[in-house]
This record gives sequence, C-alpha cells and structure tokens, in this order.
Amino acid sequence: MSLLEVENLGVRIGAVVPVDGVSFSIGAGETFALLGESGSGKSMTALALLRLLPAGGRIGGGEIRFDGQLLGELPESKMRSLRGRGMAMIFQEPQTSLNPVMTIGEQIAEALPGGLSREEQRNAVVRLLGEVGIADPAARLHSYPFELSGGQKQRVMIAQALAGEPRLLIADEPTTALDVTLQAQILQLIKRLARERGMGLLLITHDLGVARHMADRVGIMYAGQLIEQLPVDAEAGLARAFHPYTRKLMAAVPGLERAGQRLAAIPGRVPPLDRAFAGCRFAERCPHAFGPCTSAAPGWSGLAEGHQVRCHLAEHPAAVRGDESAQPLEMPRPGQVPVLEVRDLAVSFTQRTGQLFGKKQIHAVDGISFELRMGETLALVGESGCGKTTAAKAILGLTPISGGRVELDGQQVAGLSERRFKPYRRLAQIVFQDPYSSLNPRMRVGDILQEGMAALGVGEAHTRGQSVAALLEKVGLDPDAVTRYPHEFSGGQRQRIAIARALAVRPKLLICDEPTSALDVSVQAQILNLLADLQREEGLAMLFITHNLAAVGYLAHRVAVMQAGKIVELGATRDILAHPQHPYTQSLLASVV
Ligand code: SF4
Repeated sequence: MSLLEVENLGVRIGAVVPVDGVSFSIGAGETFALLGESGSGKSMTALALLRLLPAGGRIGGGEIRFDGQLLGELPESKMRSLRGRGMAMIFQEPQTSLNPVMTIGEQIAEALPGGLSREEQRNAVVRLLGEVGIADPAARLHSYPFELSGGQKQRVMIAQALAGEPRLLIADEPTTALDVTLQAQILQLIKRLARERGMGLLLITHDLGVARHMADRVGIMYAGQLIEQLPVDAEAGLARAFHPYTRKLMAAVPGLERAGQRLAAIPGRVPPLDRAFAGCRFAERCPHAFGPCTSAAPGWSGLAEGHQVRCHLAEHPAAVRGDESAQPLEMPRPGQVPVLEVRDLAVSFTQRTGQLFGKKQIHAVDGISFELRMGETLALVGESGCGKTTAAKAILGLTPISGGRVELDGQQVAGLSERRFKPYRRLAQIVFQDPYSSLNPRMRVGDILQEGMAALGVGEAHTRGQSVAALLEKVGLDPDAVTRYPHEFSGGQRQRIAIARALAVRPKLLICDEPTSALDVSVQAQILNLLADLQREEGLAMLFITHNLAAVGYLAHRVAVMQAGKIVELGATRDILAHPQHPYTQSLLASVV
C-alpha cells in the first residue's frame, strides 16, 4: 500500500472546478512531481490534501487515503495534528510565509511535537537548523526573517516543515524565487533529507528541468486534470512523454541547442474551468485534434510500465511523435557600430553596519566594461545581488554612478542632470521582470503606450493613435486592446504590452531585466520568439539580464558573467556555455538542473 493514495479527487470553488478527477499515489521514500503551467490545478490539489483550500473552496468528490486512513472522515481537530506531523508543506515564497515579528527559532519551535522542555526545544531547533545547512545555528536562533537572505529563509521554511517529523513533504515551487546556484543547493537539500528520512515527496513545479532532476515519477496536469503519468528515465528523462501537450511543453524549453530555431509556442489559452467539457480539454490547442477529440473525453491508456496517457491517439504513437521538426528562426545579425559603451562603470553605496555611527562602502558595481552593437544581444548573468540590475539602472541614469563612463549613441550620459539626460532617455528603455506590477492598473493600454511618447516628444499627437495600433500588431495583440485595462490580460499578454510600451519611443537600446522569469514555459517561448523577431526588425541592441541560462543560450550573441560587482568572464555565448574558463562560470553552469 502506498503512503498517499488520491482517487478521483475533485475541488470546487463556486462554479469553478480547478481540480477534476485527479488520481495518483506516492510511496514512502518516493518523489512524485506534479508538473504543469499556472492554473493547471497543481497547487489546489496540494491544498486539498491538507484541507487548506481557499475561502469558498471545497472538496467536490473523490478520496484521499494517507497511511491507510481516509482523510475525508477525519474531524478538523485530527486533521490539524496531521498537518505538520503527517504531512508538511514548504511554500513557494519564504518572504511572505515566515512571520516577520517572530524569531526563526520561535517559528520552528512552534512546529515541534508537544511535551518538550524549553531546553529540548532549543536543542531540537538548533539540530534542525544545522541539518538544513544554516551556519552557526545556535547564534541564528534569535534572528528575524528580515536578517536572512532568500536562500536562508527557504532553509528555515524547510526546517519548520521537518520539525513535526512528517512522513510526506509537499514542496510547492520551492525554488521558483531563487537564482540558479541557490536553486541547486535547495533541491539537493530537499532530495537528501527526503532520502535520509524515508519521506514521500510531492513536488509541485512548472519547471521541466526540476521535475526531471528530482522526481521518480511525473504527473502532468492541464486544465484541472492529470493527462499523463510516467516514470523519469535515468537516461532519457521525460523524452518518452507522449501527450501532445507534454511534448509541446518540452519543445518550448529554450537552450543553446535550439538557437536559430523558433521555439514551439502553444496557441490559444487554457480553457476556463467553469464550464462542462464534452471532449478533450486540450482539443482547441492541439495540432493533432480530430473528430472524437471534441465529442468524447479520452480515458487512460497504458503505454508502458507506469506510463499512462489520456489521448485518443494513444494507439497511434507515430502520429504524435513525428511532428517535432522545428521552424528556423532568423537570428538578428549584429552591426559594427557600438550603441552602448560602458567603461570602468562603478556604483557604490554606503550602508550602516548596525554599530553606533558604523558605516561601510558596498561596491555594487565594481569597474565593469563592455560594449553593445546595434542588433546584438548581450546577456548579463550572475546570482542575485551580483550587481546586474544596479548596472542596468546606472546605464539608464536611474542610479548615480561613482566612477567610469556610459556612452549611449556617442554621448556620455552617466552623471548627467535629469534635464540634460532627458533627450537620451528615449534611446534606452527597460522591460521589467513582473508584468503584473510594471503596468499602471488604472490606465487603459492605449494611454499606457501613448504616455511615454507624449512625455518624450515622440511623434505628433494626432498620429500617436496609429502608432499604438501598429505597435499592438507588432507585439501580437488585438487592436481592441487599446480600450482595455492591464488586469484584463494574462501574464504573457501584459509582458507584450510592456514590450510595446518600451518600443513606443523608438529606443536604440532595450534592457530586459528577467523578462520571462515570472512566465510559464509556453508563454516564455512566445516572448523569446517575439524579442528575437523585434530585434531583427528594429535593429535594437539588447541587454538581457537573467539567471536563466537556457534563455541566454537561445537568445544571446555574447555573455558577460558577473560576480560580486565585477565581470569575471565575457565572450561569445557558445564559447562561454560550452567551454567556461572562469571557476565561477563553471560553478554557475554546473548548478543548472
Ligand atoms: Fe489532441 Fe485529441 Fe489527444 Fe486531446 S485527445 S491531446 S485533442 S489528439
């Protein structure tokens, strides 16, 4: 018997059915990954296991059996003690999940079993902190969350989850907010602890690399249903996946080997989950849909030991597996003339040390130099806090510099006053990471796009409406978007609006600061394809700031690797990714899962 058995689970929130007929099992010591894009029902499935559904949500059917016990029959008091002791959860965002007014020692102690003396509690917390790799755990007991880095907070969350000695650990996107090195450390930690303690692990992720690296088996979710389950092959990973949706997801992942090819984008959107489905939920987006797909829901078909799929074509594998020929993508060719020259750029801050009158200098950017030509993409990569974004702000004139030069289109711009900088502001534009917070929610899209043009004197007032229509078409949005507000759009569409806003003032340099890290893999593919197309058509120079090395391999001509404010390696993308010379670049690449 498995540790966890989920049978035909359904969840309802009002008229919406975010989870519909989901069945899977997890054995002790086994890792099962639920993989899928936003809104597929993964997190809602996990919350249903713990009976922690959001307000208005209820379990609409099915059975959950944990350690042989039917959870539906447990009163809330028993369920409360099962949470933490039987099953525990690590949430995605430690920043908001830890209590900011309690020390980390107090928060972990709260999750320990009852009946321990103060001394035993203290010893248990110190042991747990040591186990999750917090240095000098006895001294850290009294720290508050704000005193810890992102990686340390995530370790504290893991210690808190382990405090009740759970038999099943649920990790919901545990590394999404972390950079590549921290991600590798945290995943390794979770894997080691699960193995050592013989815990079952339910890993929820939208990252195919993470699922492949961590899981024994993977279940792929789409529109509230599991559509495929398969074991992870030690050699082939998920290459044997069959479902057209799974295969499209895999083809949407960027990488060096896909440079020069158009990434597979999945047309359309996930259907709304407040309606009944007659046929396959993927039918509207599936390139293989045929007669029965719209009239009959596919049942499970077994393809191999442990490999099941919901698809009417399961009996005809050649029909699905033969269509992976990628379309070529004409990459932009860099020109000869540099549009941006950065020489010995330095940005320093003064920071208080916590002692009376104590101050120290932080060299956030420490003498970096590079140039960028029209039509060229330079990726600036490195861990969080290495100075990438500060360098971008200095180039845009948004933060004062403490040394060096920035020349934009032949003009020294760094250090200019706001009035003298204004004519150059148009030349360099930025697209931010989070399309949800970077657009004014109270402005219509048409006004958002015209605002920059009006402020920087681009075009005549009476022609700006036409320019907006042309921009929307260029970034793949319908003309009626002008009258709508940002909240009416998906994350990928909002990022298209942000790109259109940047292009509206006809810049020569586009800085993209982690433009796809908040997006699902299929939407990321659309945005990367769009950036490559726009750069080729407009001849833009692009500074691409990211910790996503797969996207770098796909899009960038050259890479600059930053560590502690300095560029430690700079060269052609293929050379750096295939033959890194600097030990830091080597360790960064070794961390990619
Ligand atoms: Fe595509 Fe039909 Fe299979 Fe659904 S059942 S994935 S529409 S071929």
